[in-house]
Amino acid sequence: MTATTKQLRVVDVILPLAVEGSFTYLLPASEKEPEVQVGQRVVVPLGKKKEVMGVVETVREAREDEEVGVLREVLRFPEEGPLVTAEQMQLWQWIARYYMCSLGEVMRAALPNSLRQEKESRRRKTPDGIGEKQTANALNEEQTRAVEEIYQAWEKTPTVLLFGVTSSGKTEVYIHLAEETIRKGKKVLYLVPEIALTTQLTDRLRRVFGERLGVYHSRFTDRERETIYKNVLAGDRYDVVLGVRSSLFLPFRDLGLIIVDEEHDTSYKQQDPAPRYHARTVALMLGSIWSARTLLGTATPSVETYYNALQGKYGLVEMKRRYAGLDLPAIHLLDLQRAYKQKKMEGHLSLPLVVHMREQLEAGKQVLLFQNRRGYNSFIECPECGYVPKCVNCDISLTEHKPVAEGLPSRLVCHYCGYSIPAPSVCPECGKGEPVDRGFGTEKIEEEAKTLFPEARIARMDTDTTHAKDAHEKLIRRFADHEIDILVGTQMITKGLHFKDVSLVAVLKADAMLNQPDFRAQERAYQMLEQVSGRAGRAGTEGHVILQTSDIDNPLFKHLQRHDYEAMYAEQIEERKAFRYPPFYRIIGMTLRHREQSRLEAASRTLHDRLKQVFGTRCSEVIVPAVGRVQNLYIRQLTLKIEASASYAKAKEMLEAELRYVKGLGPCKGTLITLDVDPM
Ligand code: ADP
Ligand code: ZN
Repeated sequence: MTATTKQLRVVDVILPLAVEGSFTYLLPASEKEPEVQVGQRVVVPLGKKKEVMGVVETVREAREDEEVGVLREVLRFPEEGPLVTAEQMQLWQWIARYYMCSLGEVMRAALPNSLRQEKESRRRKTPDGIGEKQTANALNEEQTRAVEEIYQAWEKTPTVLLFGVTSSGKTEVYIHLAEETIRKGKKVLYLVPEIALTTQLTDRLRRVFGERLGVYHSRFTDRERETIYKNVLAGDRYDVVLGVRSSLFLPFRDLGLIIVDEEHDTSYKQQDPAPRYHARTVALMLGSIWSARTLLGTATPSVETYYNALQGKYGLVEMKRRYAGLDLPAIHLLDLQRAYKQKKMEGHLSLPLVVHMREQLEAGKQVLLFQNRRGYNSFIECPECGYVPKCVNCDISLTEHKPVAEGLPSRLVCHYCGYSIPAPSVCPECGKGEPVDRGFGTEKIEEEAKTLFPEARIARMDTDTTHAKDAHEKLIRRFADHEIDILVGTQMITKGLHFKDVSLVAVLKADAMLNQPDFRAQERAYQMLEQVSGRAGRAGTEGHVILQTSDIDNPLFKHLQRHDYEAMYAEQIEERKAFRYPPFYRIIGMTLRHREQSRLEAASRTLHDRLKQVFGTRCSEVIVPAVGRVQNLYIRQLTLKIEASASYAKAKEMLEAELRYVKGLGPCKGTLITLDVDPM
């Protein structure tokens, strides 16, 4: 290169695409603008006509061997200076590597939509309320001790598990630690697994942090999220950000503390689309980038986290008692098989439960009825011929939904793809029977409760009743304000919520969760049931829990009755070891999809055979999932189990090489392959 030729400067740009590799562009020759920076947004041409928004990953001089002649120029810079910080870029790169996805996919998850498009962005007022600022509650003795122990543990390791029973006052401990972090001039990220939890916490945190609290989740409009993003980037607006997993992607400055509340919660895992990340894992990485401290809090730790704590990898601090000396709720088991035999049932509610409900309602208390619909789909069936209507696109039976308004017919809906038809009044198969609801979903329970307690105010909370914006928040507030006497709900109602008048919680079929073909089924059932129990008796009211079950001898219920997490853990960790599961092994899941079953089967076999050669017994056989076809695509799965002692990065590299190879082979053309690192 001679002094006369202008040195050619190029940028590698991250584009919001699922393709690997970066895209190189020339900087405009007439560039008079300030120096281009990493993390800055650029508008670049793509294909024949398209213009897309990208983020600069590197700024460099063209290499001598690079064919600059074919490169196209950056079109515009929407603003001066970076919108993505160096720390964010580091996090994006780590996520792309760890979760085996493209940087573009991380970018899609990380930036609010409006920042990924070009349009004029006006600064808007933040959607925050005002709120009187007060000071936090003074901690009691146990909380003070916990705080001291947490600081001691942080001296040794950046991550600490706060294992405190439900209502032990963990939230107050978080608030206290957040205040101290702020006093040292640093920022706090407070993660919760669900939007529902931000609702109650916002009020509580607003009282302490006032306007210095930022809240971030997907129910906000895109513009609102953009405003919050920019406020965080500016660095002077918030001390605490409360949010769901996507808030990990905000452009933090001086992050000092990350709180992962309800760390065991599976909602922290992003299922679709890529990056299929776990917020707890990413939080630990974010913490390490900032040299920040991380606190994982829960009443029911995930087996992996508790294992890490026992191994000394994380610090462990416990709070065994409820705040203000309240007792943990008494858990009663009810044998459903016997109740059915003795005809002591009113629909799906046992007589003792009905009696107890009546007592509590008469005493002015509230009742939570929990029905886990997952893995327990409702369906309709013809009593004459046994015909069950199924979805035309998916291998799953349709679920009956009551009409939205009186006079309209019920509809049968597919929970996977949304396909729906009017409910038939006569069986379309035999033309004789009248199909009946064999299901046992929340809707059915609500109906039964209304018949049994006509005078009570009854509401239902599940994905169907919470579609509308704010519907969730409204329901929670109404229940918290005791405008509802009985709330029927799915797992949505189990999470960390605090309702002072709830004296009775009932689980209508507690064993439903135990019979899932999933190595986490027992752990999850324990967590869910302990959490749902924890909603009972939180403010001076004695709490009772009734678990109706057809599997009364299952040892899990004994552990629950004693609130004996350790016993459950001891059993589970043995099984994990024996059957090669986390934390002893790490799992990478692969899902293959194709419209044609035969092509899919050929592709699965090809991939399976290759992986067997490379990974041996670490590769599973081809799995046909319980629902083997969704939205007209057939599905097959494969898993790899990698010893925790082996290099995960190396294994992923090898897998990537195999996938690249296999994708070029005839049988695999047109087969969609998605990866899930650490699936849940
Ligand atoms: P957890 O987060 O462990 O479930 P919370 O922090 O929600 O428990 O506490 C349970 C209840 O006890 C809440 O109503 C909370 O306001 C109250 N509480 C906990 N600690 C204190 C404290 N130090 N001072 C006053 N009230 C407290
Ligand atoms: Zn369907």
